[in-house]
Amino acid sequence: MQSLDAEKGLIKFSHCKKDIFCFYVPKLCPVCGQSLNYRRLEDAPVSIPSPFVNGHRQKCSFLLKPTTGTFLREYDGSSDLHVGISNTNGLVYNYNETGIHRVELGWEQCISIPLVQPDMYGLLKQWDKYLEEFSTGEAWFFHRYDEHYHNCYTYALAFINCVLAAQVKQPMSKSEFTERFVIPQTRKASKYITVYREVAENYFYIGDSPDQEQNNSEEDKLLH
Ligand SMILES: [Zn+2]
Repeated sequence: MQSLDAEKGLIKFSHCKKDIFCFYVPKLCPVCGQSLNYRRLEDAPVSIPSPFVNGHRQKCSFLLKPTTGTFLREYDGSSDLHVGISNTNGLVYNYNETGIHRVELGWEQCISIPLVQPDMYGLLKQWDKYLEEFSTGEAWFFHRYDEHYHNCYTYALAFINCVLAAQVKQPMSKSEFTERFVIPQTRKASKYITVYREVAENYFYIGDSPDQEQNNSEEDKLLH
């Protein structure tokens, strides 16, 4: 039996000038009831890549997930989010009111922002040592935690800035990092969640095809 949490792959095809999302391509078009034939190559079914990845398989990344539950099942757009940093071995370091945690489980469905280019061998080699040393600092003792001013995000960003400083690069503010790297990903994820839940409930999500000039909304483009 398939676990309820296992994410199914979303598929998109076009018919009747609509973009139709599903988990399984039907024999007949859900809009016109005719059998599916595709006049153009771009109308044929394609898989939609998920914005979520297993954080324990993402090396040296900034990871984001709901504090409780998962994006696909529980996230409602305003749920609390928790962030962490992965080492090269699938261990996720994160900070909360009970201090620093190094975990092997629990970050299986998250948004990931890679922090190191694959050719930065020097940094990759030092990463685990940097992360471990940084995390044992007094700043991250549990009693220093503050929900608004000294939280998981403070910890992750301070580490990122430490790495940037080691590379003689400018530090980033919270708003700069959020706007440049986090918001584009969360926006894509929200759209994906909407489509995914609709398909899980009603088999299909039917949207206007962005090829239709009159309805070329920004949202529709996100899934392309
Ligand atoms: Zn049709």
